[in-house]
Amino acid sequence: MPGVKCGLCAHACLLSDGKTGICGVNKNTGGRIECTVYGRPVAKNIDPVEKKPLRRFMSGTYTYSIGTFGCNFKCEWCQNYHISQAKSEKVEMLPFVSPEEIVLSAIRSNCLSISCTYNEPTVFYPYAKDIGMIAKEKGLKNIFVSNGYQSDEVIHEMTGWVNAINVDLKCFDRSNHKKFTGADLDVVLKNLKILADSDVHLEITTLIIPGINDSDEEIEAIAEFISNELGKNVPWHVSAFHPDYKMTDRNQTPAERVYTAVETGKKAGLEFVYAGNIW
Ligand code: SF4
Repeated sequence: MPGVKCGLCAHACLLSDGKTGICGVNKNTGGRIECTVYGRPVAKNIDPVEKKPLRRFMSGTYTYSIGTFGCNFKCEWCQNYHISQAKSEKVEMLPFVSPEEIVLSAIRSNCLSISCTYNEPTVFYPYAKDIGMIAKEKGLKNIFVSNGYQSDEVIHEMTGWVNAINVDLKCFDRSNHKKFTGADLDVVLKNLKILADSDVHLEITTLIIPGINDSDEEIEAIAEFISNELGKNVPWHVSAFHPDYKMTDRNQTPAERVYTAVETGKKAGLEFVYAGNIW
Protein backbone atom coordinates (compact mmCIF):
# COMPACT_ATOMS: atom_id res chain seq x y z
CA MET A 1 0.00 0.00 0.00
CA PRO A 2 1.44 3.41 -0.93
CA GLY A 3 2.25 5.69 1.96
CA VAL A 4 0.48 8.84 3.15
CA LYS A 5 2.20 12.20 2.80
CA CYS A 6 2.44 14.48 5.83
CA GLY A 7 1.74 18.06 4.81
CA LEU A 8 2.97 19.91 7.89
CA CYS A 9 6.53 20.73 6.95
CA ALA A 10 8.65 20.95 3.82
CA HIS A 11 10.13 17.49 4.40
CA ALA A 12 6.81 16.15 3.07
CA CYS A 13 7.50 12.69 4.55
CA LEU A 14 5.78 9.82 2.76
CA LEU A 15 4.84 7.42 5.55
CA SER A 16 3.82 3.80 5.30
CA ASP A 17 1.38 2.46 7.88
CA GLY A 18 2.74 2.65 11.43
CA LYS A 19 5.77 4.76 10.51
CA THR A 20 6.66 8.16 11.91
CA GLY A 21 8.35 10.94 9.93
CA ILE A 22 11.67 12.72 10.43
CA CYS A 23 10.20 14.64 13.38
CA GLY A 24 9.54 11.39 15.22
CA VAL A 25 6.04 12.44 16.26
CA ASN A 26 3.75 12.55 13.20
CA LYS A 27 2.71 9.08 12.22
CA ASN A 28 0.70 7.13 9.66
CA THR A 29 -1.96 5.44 11.77
CA GLY A 30 -4.25 3.34 9.65
CA GLY A 31 -3.89 5.53 6.57
CA ARG A 32 -4.14 8.97 8.17
CA ILE A 33 -1.49 11.23 9.65
CA GLU A 34 -1.76 11.29 13.43
CA CYS A 35 -0.05 14.06 15.38
CA THR A 36 0.93 11.92 18.37
CA VAL A 37 1.88 14.94 20.49
CA TYR A 38 -1.56 16.53 20.16
CA GLY A 39 -2.63 17.54 23.69
CA ARG A 40 0.64 16.33 25.25
CA PRO A 41 2.71 19.38 26.14
CA VAL A 42 5.99 18.44 27.78
CA ALA A 43 6.76 21.97 28.94
CA LYS A 44 4.49 24.80 30.15
CA ASN A 45 6.01 28.01 31.50
CA ILE A 46 5.28 31.67 32.01
CA ASP A 47 8.00 33.72 30.33
CA PRO A 48 8.64 37.39 29.62
CA VAL A 49 7.95 37.79 25.89
CA GLU A 50 11.49 39.15 25.50
CA LYS A 51 12.78 35.66 26.31
CA LYS A 52 11.37 34.16 23.07
CA PRO A 53 13.19 36.42 21.93
CA LEU A 54 10.78 39.12 20.76
CA ARG A 55 11.88 42.65 21.49
CA ARG A 56 9.40 44.71 19.51
CA PHE A 57 6.14 42.90 20.18
CA MET A 58 4.10 43.31 23.37
CA SER A 59 7.19 44.34 25.35
CA GLY A 60 6.86 44.09 29.10
CA THR A 61 4.20 41.36 28.98
CA TYR A 62 4.24 37.68 29.88
CA THR A 63 3.58 34.86 27.46
CA TYR A 64 2.33 31.35 28.25
CA SER A 65 4.90 29.08 26.63
CA ILE A 66 4.34 25.50 25.59
CA GLY A 67 6.29 22.86 23.71
CA THR A 68 6.03 19.16 22.92
CA PHE A 69 8.41 16.38 21.94
CA GLY A 70 9.78 16.27 18.39
CA CYS A 71 11.51 18.40 15.79
CA ASN A 72 11.95 18.35 12.03
CA PHE A 73 15.57 19.58 12.30
CA LYS A 74 18.53 17.71 13.76
CA CYS A 75 20.78 20.54 14.96
CA GLU A 76 23.83 19.15 16.74
CA TRP A 77 23.93 22.19 19.06
CA CYS A 78 20.27 22.06 20.14
CA GLN A 79 19.81 23.41 23.65
CA ASN A 80 16.41 21.70 23.98
CA TYR A 81 17.50 18.36 22.53
CA HIS A 82 16.04 16.37 25.45
CA ILE A 83 12.57 17.29 24.19
CA SER A 84 13.16 18.15 20.53
CA GLN A 85 14.88 14.87 19.72
CA ALA A 86 12.66 12.65 21.89
CA LYS A 87 10.40 10.26 20.03
CA SER A 88 6.69 9.62 20.22
CA GLU A 89 6.97 6.50 22.44
CA LYS A 90 7.38 8.82 25.43
CA VAL A 91 4.25 10.82 24.67
CA GLU A 92 1.74 8.56 26.37
CA MET A 93 3.42 9.14 29.73
CA LEU A 94 2.30 12.77 29.57
CA PRO A 95 -1.14 13.87 30.79
CA PHE A 96 -3.61 15.12 28.15
CA VAL A 97 -4.12 18.89 28.24
CA SER A 98 -6.87 20.20 25.98
CA PRO A 99 -6.49 23.42 23.94
CA GLU A 100 -9.18 24.99 26.17
CA GLU A 101 -7.16 24.19 29.29
CA ILE A 102 -4.02 25.76 27.80
CA VAL A 103 -5.87 28.99 27.03
CA LEU A 104 -7.48 29.03 30.47
CA SER A 105 -4.09 28.56 32.14
CA ALA A 106 -2.68 31.44 30.09
CA ILE A 107 -5.52 33.73 31.14
CA ARG A 108 -5.23 32.70 34.81
CA SER A 109 -1.50 33.45 34.67
CA ASN A 110 -2.14 36.97 33.38
CA CYS A 111 -0.40 36.19 30.11
CA LEU A 112 -1.48 38.20 27.08
CA SER A 113 -0.22 35.68 24.55
CA ILE A 114 0.53 32.01 24.01
CA SER A 115 3.90 30.97 22.60
CA CYS A 116 4.54 27.70 20.82
CA THR A 117 8.23 27.34 21.52
CA TYR A 118 10.93 24.99 22.98
CA ASN A 119 10.56 22.61 20.02
CA GLU A 120 9.39 23.29 16.46
CA PRO A 121 5.67 24.26 16.52
CA THR A 122 5.14 22.95 12.98
CA VAL A 123 5.40 19.37 14.23
CA PHE A 124 2.47 20.02 16.59
CA TYR A 125 0.66 22.41 14.28
CA PRO A 126 -2.83 20.82 14.65
CA TYR A 127 -2.63 21.33 18.44
CA ALA A 128 -1.06 24.79 18.12
CA LYS A 129 -3.80 25.89 15.73
CA ASP A 130 -6.65 24.62 17.93
CA ILE A 131 -5.12 26.48 20.87
CA GLY A 132 -4.56 29.54 18.68
CA MET A 133 -8.15 29.71 17.51
CA ILE A 134 -9.48 29.70 21.08
CA ALA A 135 -6.79 32.15 22.19
CA LYS A 136 -7.74 34.54 19.39
CA GLU A 137 -11.41 34.36 20.42
CA LYS A 138 -10.42 35.24 24.00
CA GLY A 139 -8.30 38.21 22.90
CA LEU A 140 -4.88 36.61 23.37
CA LYS A 141 -2.10 36.84 20.77
CA ASN A 142 -0.37 33.84 19.23
CA ILE A 143 3.40 33.52 18.95
CA PHE A 144 5.61 30.93 17.21
CA VAL A 145 9.32 30.36 17.74
CA SER A 146 10.29 28.42 14.66
CA ASN A 147 12.91 27.21 12.22
CA GLY A 148 10.80 28.42 9.28
CA TYR A 149 10.49 25.03 7.56
CA GLN A 150 6.71 24.90 7.12
CA SER A 151 5.06 23.44 4.03
CA ASP A 152 3.57 25.96 1.57
CA GLU A 153 0.09 25.21 2.87
CA VAL A 154 0.98 25.70 6.54
CA ILE A 155 3.07 28.86 6.10
CA HIS A 156 0.26 30.58 4.21
CA GLU A 157 -2.40 29.40 6.65
CA MET A 158 -0.35 30.49 9.66
CA THR A 159 -0.25 34.08 8.50
CA GLY A 160 -3.99 34.20 9.14
CA TRP A 161 -3.77 33.54 12.87
CA VAL A 162 -0.18 33.75 14.17
CA ASN A 163 0.54 37.31 15.36
CA ALA A 164 4.31 37.16 15.87
CA ILE A 165 7.13 34.80 15.06
CA ASN A 166 10.82 34.54 15.76
CA VAL A 167 12.54 32.47 13.07
CA ASP A 168 15.95 30.96 13.67
CA LEU A 169 18.02 31.59 10.54
CA LYS A 170 20.82 29.21 11.34
CA CYS A 171 23.36 29.92 8.63
CA PHE A 172 23.61 31.14 5.06
CA ASP A 173 25.63 28.36 3.49
CA ARG A 174 23.42 25.82 1.71
CA SER A 175 25.61 22.80 2.28
CA ASN A 176 26.18 23.58 5.98
CA HIS A 177 22.47 24.15 6.47
CA LYS A 178 21.72 20.76 4.96
CA LYS A 179 24.55 19.06 6.82
CA PHE A 180 23.75 20.41 10.27
CA THR A 181 19.94 20.64 10.19
CA GLY A 182 18.95 18.10 7.53
CA ALA A 183 16.87 20.78 5.76
CA ASP A 184 17.11 23.07 2.73
CA LEU A 185 18.06 26.68 3.35
CA ASP A 186 16.07 27.90 0.34
CA VAL A 187 12.79 26.81 1.90
CA VAL A 188 13.55 28.83 5.03
CA LEU A 189 14.48 31.91 2.95
CA LYS A 190 11.29 31.57 0.88
CA ASN A 191 9.15 31.26 4.02
CA LEU A 192 10.86 34.27 5.59
CA LYS A 193 9.85 36.36 2.59
CA ILE A 194 6.24 35.16 2.89
CA LEU A 195 6.23 36.12 6.57
CA ALA A 196 7.83 39.51 5.88
CA ASP A 197 5.11 40.25 3.32
CA SER A 198 2.34 39.28 5.74
CA ASP A 199 0.83 40.94 8.81
CA VAL A 200 2.81 38.65 11.13
CA HIS A 201 5.36 40.50 13.28
CA LEU A 202 8.72 38.95 12.33
CA GLU A 203 11.98 38.82 14.26
CA ILE A 204 15.01 36.70 13.41
CA THR A 205 17.64 34.97 15.51
CA THR A 206 21.05 33.69 14.43
CA LEU A 207 23.19 31.67 16.81
CA ILE A 208 26.81 32.42 15.94
CA ILE A 209 28.71 29.14 16.05
CA PRO A 210 32.51 29.17 15.86
CA GLY A 211 33.73 27.44 12.71
CA ILE A 212 30.26 27.09 11.18
CA ASN A 213 28.70 30.48 10.48
CA ASP A 214 31.01 33.01 12.15
CA SER A 215 32.97 34.24 9.13
CA ASP A 216 32.65 37.93 8.29
CA GLU A 217 31.28 37.00 4.85
CA GLU A 218 28.51 34.82 6.21
CA ILE A 219 27.45 37.27 8.92
CA GLU A 220 27.38 40.02 6.30
CA ALA A 221 25.36 37.87 3.89
CA ILE A 222 22.72 37.19 6.57
CA ALA A 223 22.52 40.86 7.56
CA GLU A 224 22.21 41.95 3.92
CA PHE A 225 19.50 39.38 3.25
CA ILE A 226 17.41 40.57 6.19
CA SER A 227 17.94 44.22 5.35
CA ASN A 228 17.35 43.97 1.58
CA GLU A 229 14.85 41.13 1.29
CA LEU A 230 12.83 41.27 4.52
CA GLY A 231 13.02 44.84 5.75
CA LYS A 232 15.34 47.14 7.65
CA ASN A 233 12.86 47.23 10.52
CA VAL A 234 12.98 43.44 11.06
CA PRO A 235 14.78 42.91 14.39
CA TRP A 236 17.81 40.59 14.30
CA HIS A 237 19.07 38.80 17.41
CA VAL A 238 22.65 37.57 17.22
CA SER A 239 23.37 35.10 19.98
CA ALA A 240 26.40 33.39 21.41
CA PHE A 241 26.67 29.62 21.07
CA HIS A 242 27.65 27.49 24.04
CA PRO A 243 28.58 23.81 23.79
CA ASP A 244 25.58 21.50 24.10
CA TYR A 245 24.12 18.16 22.91
CA LYS A 246 26.46 16.70 20.24
CA MET A 247 28.47 19.85 19.67
CA THR A 248 30.93 19.94 22.53
CA ASP A 249 34.07 20.15 20.40
CA ARG A 250 34.30 23.96 20.41
CA ASN A 251 34.18 26.84 22.85
CA GLN A 252 31.36 29.28 23.36
CA THR A 253 31.28 32.26 21.01
CA PRO A 254 33.43 35.13 22.33
CA ALA A 255 31.30 38.14 23.31
CA GLU A 256 33.44 40.29 21.02
CA ARG A 257 32.34 38.23 17.99
CA VAL A 258 28.70 38.80 18.84
CA TYR A 259 29.22 42.54 19.23
CA THR A 260 31.01 42.80 15.86
CA ALA A 261 28.06 40.93 14.29
CA VAL A 262 25.73 43.53 15.82
CA GLU A 263 27.83 46.24 14.13
CA THR A 264 27.65 44.32 10.82
CA GLY A 265 23.86 44.28 11.11
CA LYS A 266 23.75 48.01 11.74
CA LYS A 267 26.08 48.68 8.79
CA ALA A 268 23.70 46.68 6.59
CA GLY A 269 21.01 49.18 7.56
CA LEU A 270 19.11 47.13 10.14
CA GLU A 271 17.38 49.32 12.70
CA PHE A 272 17.16 46.81 15.52
CA VAL A 273 20.03 44.42 16.23
CA TYR A 274 20.42 42.74 19.61
CA ALA A 275 23.21 40.71 21.20
CA GLY A 276 22.01 37.62 23.05
CA ASN A 277 23.33 34.83 25.30
CA ILE A 278 26.26 36.93 26.50
CA TRP A 279 27.33 36.15 30.03
S1 SF4 B 1 6.04 17.28 10.38
FE1 SF4 B 1 7.58 17.28 8.75
S2 SF4 B 1 9.14 15.84 9.51
FE2 SF4 B 1 7.26 15.43 10.66
S3 SF4 B 1 6.26 13.81 9.51
FE3 SF4 B 1 5.39 15.78 8.83
S4 SF4 B 1 6.59 16.28 7.00
FE4 SF4 B 1 7.78 14.72 8.15
